[in-house]
Amino acid sequence: MTLLFKEKEEIRVKRPKWCSEDLWQTLTGLMVGGILTVNVAFSKAERKILRKRKQIKPSVWSEKHRVLVKSVLPGLWKNSVTPYLVGIVDAAALPYIREIIICKAPQTGVSEIAHNFVGSRIDLAPGDVLYTFPEENTARGNAKDRVTPMILNSVRLRSYLTGYEKDLASDRINLQHMTIYFAWAGSPSSMANKPIRYAISDEIDKPGFGNAKKEADPLDQIDKRLTTYRDISKHWKISTPTVATGNVWQELNHNTDVIFEFHVKCPFCEQLQLMKMTQIKWEGGSKADPREIKNKKLAWYECEACKEHWDDNIRNKAARHGDWIARGSSIAIETYLEKFRPANIGFHLPAWNSYFVSLSECAAAFLKGLENKKKLKDFRNGFEALPWEEYEVLAKQEDEEVLKCKTDLPPQVVPESAVALTAGFDLHKAGFPYVVRAWAKDFTSWLIDYGHLGNWQDLERLLFETVYPVYNSDRQMRIWRAGLDTGGSKYKKEISSTEEAYLWLQENTGHSRACRVWGCKGSSNPLPTKLKMGSILNKTPSGKPLRMGMRLVLLDTDKFKDMFYDRMFKALSGEQGGAWLHNETTLEYARQITAEEKQVNEKGVETWELIRADNHYLDCECIASALADWEWPGGGVNLFPDPNQAGNKAEKRGNQEHGIGPKNRPSWFNKR
Ligand SMILES: [Zn+2]
Repeated sequence: MTLLFKEKEEIRVKRPKWCSEDLWQTLTGLMVGGILTVNVAFSKAERKILRKRKQIKPSVWSEKHRVLVKSVLPGLWKNSVTPYLVGIVDAAALPYIREIIICKAPQTGVSEIAHNFVGSRIDLAPGDVLYTFPEENTARGNAKDRVTPMILNSVRLRSYLTGYEKDLASDRINLQHMTIYFAWAGSPSSMANKPIRYAISDEIDKPGFGNAKKEADPLDQIDKRLTTYRDISKHWKISTPTVATGNVWQELNHNTDVIFEFHVKCPFCEQLQLMKMTQIKWEGGSKADPREIKNKKLAWYECEACKEHWDDNIRNKAARHGDWIARGSSIAIETYLEKFRPANIGFHLPAWNSYFVSLSECAAAFLKGLENKKKLKDFRNGFEALPWEEYEVLAKQEDEEVLKCKTDLPPQVVPESAVALTAGFDLHKAGFPYVVRAWAKDFTSWLIDYGHLGNWQDLERLLFETVYPVYNSDRQMRIWRAGLDTGGSKYKKEISSTEEAYLWLQENTGHSRACRVWGCKGSSNPLPTKLKMGSILNKTPSGKPLRMGMRLVLLDTDKFKDMFYDRMFKALSGEQGGAWLHNETTLEYARQITAEEKQVNEKGVETWELIRADNHYLDCECIASALADWEWPGGGVNLFPDPNQAGNKAEKRGNQEHGIGPKNRPSWFNKR
């Protein structure tokens, strides 16, 4: 169909999405000689935008219209520098592609190619854009130093400017026909509240974007903004990986239809191959000096097929003749996309593919990784573009270290000096991992029981019916307090179990039973204290009313993890207040305790991060410790009378068996 404007300008148009089939029939019926005269005056700018641009590939567009200014290679964009980016950006423009997930090493140019994509959309397929970065500074910096210069330095893009300076702000750029928003993940209010067509989420593994453990999920929020444009939207999710549970590794492995890997072509034998660290070689092996290797550029790449040596230049040449291949096949990207038309595609890009990283830098980073764990992690994340996972050997040593806290106490038996038992439960799709810990008045504690319960009945039996014998006596003890993690982490999508937990807690938190049960939740932010009462909840996650209202206890789990580890060290060094284990504690328990590791983030703040799946027992231990803590509503185990003091021992113990009375609880707590 051809539209004829007043100024006799013809524009060929296809039926736009907003135009119904009926209306389109009517319009085409009004045509005379195949031309419809529309009696509307368009401004010059509108005409330019309405004119259908020839849809060229974004990579081709970039070489015509993208000018780099602040760059080691200023001038017009050249695809030959970073040839691996061509396949990514061109795939992203295909109509059936919805999500582009890129797990990459730093200095690979991926963020720039996302800008190129946005630039080409401004010109070829306009729609509002939302950039999201982990922090405000990065967001504003990208607006100011990357995207604005991209527009100002391109004659084509410059023609879309409104001419008003205020339209070039650091949180939004208004063009004549679309808006580019800049947001930061930490603050949901900064995320544009309007429907958007294109989302670029960069460095999604950094704090701010949250992780599998936290509930607020900026990536989900961004996806919601895209729903209006569901069938034509695009979401780029980009990051250097951190740990296996981090966003980018999870997205790459669980949210893609295919993962592409870049294969390079040996200039000597023409063999297409996936570059590997093991083929980067240098003299001196593990004894070589990383600084010398890097400075003197002593490393080379050895072709897997013909064994020829490549220097950096040959490596770059090999990359220029390379291609993305679907993992687990030998199908090149273009063929694959055409044949299978996947919606979500993933790319894995290690540093040795990059023009900006020398082979010797890779070798040096590998050698430094042999020096300590922190540097090994840097190599894994920053060069291999792989998540950090504890090496088996190291992990095993740590696990055996944990098991040194074993005593000769048999399982399910309470030591004589214990004054109370607390139980921590995690919520899991397949049931409830739990620990039961016995506490002495001075916070010395013993793991007396742990395991996995299958259903709510098992849980009730343990909490309300089970009695544990006290060692060397005919006394028995019940669980005094219990806490259930109602959480439900992002990637497990356990909303239904959280729902059940709320309803169960509503029925079972009453005062009538011997054991008092609380719902707990890890706080998504650090707290000034170790724990605090959450606000009153009147509804379950799905909106079912909670008649009596319910309050969860929010735990600063990082603090409790510190404390638990500290107590294990106390046990190992024979200090008072140690955390001990019963004599049949297994390696499986220890594995879960060491499944998290304290790491220093970009801001220099130490946080506990998951390094392996399954940390249930560690979570349970944190809850069990919180319940005994003096900060807990009603006070901690230190308030119990000393069981070893002379006098009416038996009577006091009798009291414990039925739980402590309400007299120690502050009055505000009884009113909740
Ligand atoms: Zn070769």
